[in-house]
Amino acid sequence: MAGRIVGIDLGTTNSCMAIMDSGKSVIIPNSLGDRVTPSVVCVDEEKEILVGKTAKRAAALNPDRTVFSIKRHMGTNYRVTIDGKPYTPQEISAMILQRLKWDLEEYLGDEVDQAVITVPAYFTDAQRQATRDAGEIAGLTVRRIIDEPTAAAIAYGVDKEEDQILMVYDLGGGTFDVSIIEVIGGVFQVLAIKGNNMLGGDDFDQRIVEWLVEDFKQKHGIDLLQDRGTYYKLRNAAEQAKIELSNQQKSNILLEAIAMTDSGPLTLDVDLTRAKLESLIGDLVESTEKPSLQAIEDAGLTPSDITTVILVGGSTRIPLVQQSIQKVVSKEPRRDVNPDEVVAMGAAYQSSLLASLDDELESSAADRVPSDTPVIVHLTPFSLGVGLVNDQYGILIERNSTYPTEAKDYFTTTRDFQNAISFPIYEGEEQVASTNTFLDMLRIDGLPAAPRGIPRIEVTFRLNHDRILEATAKDLTSGIEVTVTVVATDNRLNDQEKGRMAREARQRVTRLLEQRVKETLFNQAESLIFRAEKMIGDNEDPTAMETRNIVDSLQKALDNSDTSQINSLMAKLTEQIAKLEAVEF
Ligand code: AMP
Repeated sequence: MAGRIVGIDLGTTNSCMAIMDSGKSVIIPNSLGDRVTPSVVCVDEEKEILVGKTAKRAAALNPDRTVFSIKRHMGTNYRVTIDGKPYTPQEISAMILQRLKWDLEEYLGDEVDQAVITVPAYFTDAQRQATRDAGEIAGLTVRRIIDEPTAAAIAYGVDKEEDQILMVYDLGGGTFDVSIIEVIGGVFQVLAIKGNNMLGGDDFDQRIVEWLVEDFKQKHGIDLLQDRGTYYKLRNAAEQAKIELSNQQKSNILLEAIAMTDSGPLTLDVDLTRAKLESLIGDLVESTEKPSLQAIEDAGLTPSDITTVILVGGSTRIPLVQQSIQKVVSKEPRRDVNPDEVVAMGAAYQSSLLASLDDELESSAADRVPSDTPVIVHLTPFSLGVGLVNDQYGILIERNSTYPTEAKDYFTTTRDFQNAISFPIYEGEEQVASTNTFLDMLRIDGLPAAPRGIPRIEVTFRLNHDRILEATAKDLTSGIEVTVTVVATDNRLNDQEKGRMAREARQRVTRLLEQRVKETLFNQAESLIFRAEKMIGDNEDPTAMETRNIVDSLQKALDNSDTSQINSLMAKLTEQIAKLEAVEF
């Protein structure tokens, strides 16, 4: 499977892409020249899909057509409905990935069809599978799903000689996690992870919005939250102010004509100080300290054992966040790592490992990891097990186990001549099985008749590189065997659905390509018209009159978007211009 593999950080708020170039990981800018692309999608009235900065800008005008932070819904049965059409989180994420793929291909002048995509360490199997599906819909073979903190650690540690214990503190737009990673002799081992899937910069923005709304209500008695368009305007302004306050003490929030009254439009004009921001978000920032300490403890370490702190995610630029980390580890975080880019860079390093493995396999060399590439050891953040009689929970793979891994356990029947057993598969730490997250049902049928307690059913859990679980139940007497690949049942896309979504995604690319060809043609036609008009001026000469007629027809064809007419009239006009060049006016 040789070919270009890219690294993609598919973030809640922003996404970023990187490739390997001459042994170095390099960030690839999008078509606007930006190194990160907002993970925002807008389906406009013409059904055109806008992604990134353009979609973010369109949000205030199209609040019902714009989707933010879809990553928070990955792996759930959430749907976004636009123009009556429901979209799955996978489809929306695929639109983002498709845009990134498109930009990468434009930049590289080459097809990109494989990717390593990063996900938060806390993502469940269903969320990982949904990410994989999103890649597939976008036309990318997802070679590996890797954890964001691991990617960051690789990007930081790949060229460092000395052994280290890294703390990767990742606070982005929508998720928070902290990982303790040991790097010994080029081997990366995740010792512990802790976090909160539902905490990030979006929550800080929300706190500012609530404060602005409350302030406005007190001053004018008007609730600004009545209108979604207004909400997006407030949110953008709040985020802007928050970002400014990472570098300055005060920021002015000015939104003219934010509300209408009988006596005219009202303006919101408020100063937000850094101190006020800190009071608004203080408890949220503080809530990251306990998990950070817990992660260090889970790793069997104390804060002084941490050699390096790496910051990931835009929200780590907030001074209060940095102070809070220093409080936990008494150490200054590294300043030479770009928190927005480090994850994508790590994904690119991982892609180079896969590419070199491909090359080795292709040249039939030994199946071994090249010595200069990082080796990663992962830990599962949740236990995985099956529900048993009386809702007991039989754990097969313990939390914090390394993976890929395989575990087996043996079960039997509870009734005489019982011919089937169902094992509900759960993820979580609760003793009562059904209070954990249900993933799927593993059911074995057709057991030979036997008194209870006699059959021996072997249940095997295999957790692969991407932390996707394959569960098998085998009756050791008859050899009957069933296997399920586990993703949460409610949210699984079937092959048909994935096929349809991928087809729609390809059609979008075709439309975009057609659009681009059309735009180029229109530009050429317009500059030809401009040239001809300049040459003829107000001349009444027959050749000039003839030229004017062709220009008028071409203008009409442009107004009607009649591509074949445009093409033939452009050819005519080019000839005419040649004629004009021969005639001296
Ligand atoms: P990420 O998910 O890593 O792209 O992080 C995005 C989050 O970081 C958003 O909530 C941004 O508003 C926030 N962010 C980006 N830059 C800054 C900054 N300089 N100061 C504070 N927050 C920032």
